[in-house]
Amino acid sequence: METEIFAAAEICPIDVSKLQVVKTSDHGLLIPPEKLVFGRNFTDHMLSVEWTKEDGWHAPRILPYQNLSLDPATCVFHYAFECFEGMKAYKVKMDECFIPGERGYSLYLRPTLIGTQTTLGISPPESAMLFVIASPVGPYYPTGFKAISLEATNYAVRAWPGGVGDKKLGANYAPCVLPQKEAASRGHQQNLWLFGEEEFVTEVGTMNMFVAIRTKDGQKELITAPLDGTILEGITRDSILTLARERLAPEGWVVSERKYTMTEIDQAAREGRLIEAFGAGTAAIVSPVRTIYWRGKGLNCGLDQNEEAGEITVKMKEWMEAIQYGDESHEWSYIID
Ligand SMILES: *Cc1c(COP(=O)(O)O)cnc(C)c1O
Repeated sequence: METEIFAAAEICPIDVSKLQVVKTSDHGLLIPPEKLVFGRNFTDHMLSVEWTKEDGWHAPRILPYQNLSLDPATCVFHYAFECFEGMKAYKVKMDECFIPGERGYSLYLRPTLIGTQTTLGISPPESAMLFVIASPVGPYYPTGFKAISLEATNYAVRAWPGGVGDKKLGANYAPCVLPQKEAASRGHQQNLWLFGEEEFVTEVGTMNMFVAIRTKDGQKELITAPLDGTILEGITRDSILTLARERLAPEGWVVSERKYTMTEIDQAAREGRLIEAFGAGTAAIVSPVRTIYWRGKGLNCGLDQNEEAGEITVKMKEWMEAIQYGDESHEWSYIID
């Protein structure tokens, strides 16, 4: 966790030399690794940094994991002054004993920033708190890829140009529960957000979306929606685009950040030109898609019956993991003392 603080200090002027640490007697993981449920179990420690308008950032503290005590009038409860991040650490010095050693296990880190001012007036909070909690997680696909089914949602809008749907603000997520629940009630793992009358494909609940097609002229194209405010600027999306431009483009692929519609991929599917589709996010890295239900029918995304992931999906997972584990040296990873 200390390493993470130093990384965070580069973007927010917290004085890490003033770090205070209250350690617990680390008991390590109490749950058997195979029983870990995403985001339900946490390590013994949390990082906490307070901020006030008057004094700026206070000294960061690593404390035993504990409840927060907040006045009921605290602005985060009323007007959702909250934003968060999600990332994975594979080794963190202080809480190392919580991460099973086998490949695929990590600590999911959840940095969260809340407004703590106690007034019901709507104004920029004059006090805030940044905390980081850490949850041990197992491999997303312990027994290999499982292709998912998506339901296209066109009766609700998650994000729009000029809005805040492209940021991890807590307020963006509660409204997504209903379409997600409805998709689940019809047997789909996730819903796929469309935008506008044209039904542009934007993204999945917590994953950016990629489709690989062959154009009418026979050109292989990997497509993802552009950063126009209607999608989250995922780091995994960015990594996949970079790797695709570096390693797929030389094999004849065109890599496009452009708008595309359900009609376009439906037509590609019907003409046998939809090669594969996958979601991309920190938790799963990539998640292969078998079908998209849209306008009462299922679009087959290119996988054979007995196939769980397409070629690009598999390659991306392997490439990303090789970099994450240091099997391959890459400018994205570096050795820390
Ligand atoms: C977090 C998130 C993603 C994925 O972002 P990563 O930085 O790759 O983890 C995609 N869409 C939404 C809505 C998200 O909240």
